[in-house]
Amino acid sequence: MTSQTSKVAIVTGASRGIGAVIARQLASEGFAVAINYASSAAEASALVVELRQAGHRAIAIKADVANADDVRRLFEQTETQLGKVDVLVNNAGILKVLPLAQHSDELFEQTFAINTRGTFNTLREAATRLNTGGRIVNFSSSTVGLNLPGYAVYIASKAAVESLTQVFAKELRGRSITVNAVAPGPVATELFLHGKSEEQIQNFAKMPPLERLGQPEDIAGIVAFLVSPAAAWVNGQILRANGGLV
Ligand code: NAP
Repeated sequence: MTSQTSKVAIVTGASRGIGAVIARQLASEGFAVAINYASSAAEASALVVELRQAGHRAIAIKADVANADDVRRLFEQTETQLGKVDVLVNNAGILKVLPLAQHSDELFEQTFAINTRGTFNTLREAATRLNTGGRIVNFSSSTVGLNLPGYAVYIASKAAVESLTQVFAKELRGRSITVNAVAPGPVATELFLHGKSEEQIQNFAKMPPLERLGQPEDIAGIVAFLVSPAAAWVNGQILRANGGLV
């Protein structure tokens, strides 16, 4: 066990995309960061090297959030190497755009396993392990408000995350832990860009009144706010961040 000198954050799915930028931002704000990933080991290690070279404390932990044993080990290894956890950011997620009628059983299971059960698994561990005064930030999506065709299963998996967020905030009464969710609109990461034509991407970019795609930094700034002392009174909320899209 290390002696704990800084606050500790776990960011799930932090090897790439929004999660990697959240890990960078939290590290730059003084958090020791556990960078969780499922398969992108090289990216996760490179991020650890980058953060350590900048003088921060960071480790990478491979764990499939859909697997309860993996998630238990994610917390145990974080506690052993960095200290007890103050912040959990449930960023890991997948999106497959396909009409409901074309979804296979396997794809339905996989989407709910990672997006919904993955969040459930980490929340259950956090219930007994998070420090008093801790912070939890879950990830929904603004598609929950848009009800776009092709997104039914993804939206359903994220709507469940919103419900988990609102109930869990109440179940943690007395612990001074806040539980909120961020619900981004389109953000320029592989998850959004993959499989879309340039025209489709431009159409999404023009949808919000701010007329651009979100960038991972837009979302990381909101997560940094929600885990900061300034957001101590924000609890059980779903914060849509999408340039005014919905
Ligand atoms: P991304 O670029 O595809 O990155 C996804 C991250 O999740 C990767 O680090 C990936 O790690 C990890 N991951 C996937 N399955 C995992 C598992 N089973 N266990 C642990 N980690 C896993 O996605 P993103 O755009 O950054 O999305 C981050 C979150 O924002 C997701 O919850 C997504 O639903 C939400 N969101 C995104 C957008 C958008 O437009 N981008 C909009 C709304 C909401 P590996 O590579 O190691 O598997």
